[in-house]
Amino acid sequence: MKVTEHFEQAGDKTLVSFEVLPPLKGGSMQDIFDALDPLMDFKPPFIDVTYHREEYVYNMRASGYYEKTAIRKRPGTVGICASIMHRYGVDAIPHLICGGFNVEETENALIDLNFLGIDNVLALRGDARQFENKFTPEKGGHKYAKDLIKQIDQMNSGIYLDANIENGANTDFCIGVAGYPEKHFEAPNLNMDIEYTLQKIQAGGDYIVTQMFFDNQHYFKYVDACRKAGITVPIVPGLKPLTRKYQLNSIPRKFFVNMPEDLVKEIEKSDKEHTKEIGIEWCIQQSKELNEAGVPCLHYYTMGDSSTTKKIIEGFL
Ligand code: FAD
Repeated sequence: MKVTEHFEQAGDKTLVSFEVLPPLKGGSMQDIFDALDPLMDFKPPFIDVTYHREEYVYNMRASGYYEKTAIRKRPGTVGICASIMHRYGVDAIPHLICGGFNVEETENALIDLNFLGIDNVLALRGDARQFENKFTPEKGGHKYAKDLIKQIDQMNSGIYLDANIENGANTDFCIGVAGYPEKHFEAPNLNMDIEYTLQKIQAGGDYIVTQMFFDNQHYFKYVDACRKAGITVPIVPGLKPLTRKYQLNSIPRKFFVNMPEDLVKEIEKSDKEHTKEIGIEWCIQQSKELNEAGVPCLHYYTMGDSSTTKKIIEGFL
């Protein structure tokens, strides 16, 4: 079932959903099940599985020279989606990125997903690789998420890259896109970022999932600005609790979001055990307010920590 159909079916009720990361290479599917089993009582209608492209690593050879090798540390997105659907009977949403794929490879990946009965994808550009200072598309690949969305939308109309295919079977993907209440870090300003997000919706995007934020006002203002810009699709808030003190710096560095002063002050004066409690309580309050505001769904970035996610949901339900 499509994500948008889940929202329609839920009416005014706020749903909860989760995002999981594939285990590091060498890990097992059991790691994912262990992370999800305790959360299934909350009846998530869908679970997202992130995609991680290859990274360059430098290994020193016997000669003393460094050898550059490309490895994928977290492969398995599609297989994990299939396993999740099989075990829990819920929809699994693979993240699909532009980086590392040319358009042919993208088409083939989408055909695989379609054959597996996957109805939803979250279409993203992806980030620059480590040691690259800006995102570089694959030769013959997409530069922006918007272009990937257009390709999926074309397949939804039965149009494939090979012009010789006549009467191609229509796929029927529901397409999610990313949104940034505090602006994507490369965008010159929030309004232009929203304008580009509108273009993603016009290209075929069906709903938005936001980057994490720690102050709900960013989300509420963002939704208002999107509505004024003509974006009418559901906007799902993405939430992640802060659980360690070092995240006061690492989260802003990695995700370009701000930490509210009150939260920073409380965390700074806490010891290790209380840091986590404060982070969980903060996220409970955020969830409560968003739930009361009637958001379509609360989407938790679980990072494999089911007990923290469970405490948060139990805390606001
Ligand atoms: P785009 O929408 O293409 O935007 C990228 C930048 O280009 C923005 O600054 C935008 O303002 C600008 N832009 C867009 N169109 C134009 C245009 N026509 N002209 C000029 N500028 C333009 N990354 C992964 O690798 N794997 C994942 O699984 C993953 N999951 C994510 C899930 C969520 C909910 C979110 C919010 C992010 C996720 N990311 C993931 C990170 C994402 O790939 C990065 O944030 C990436 O830098 C941008 O992706 P995008 O799809 O928002 O790109």
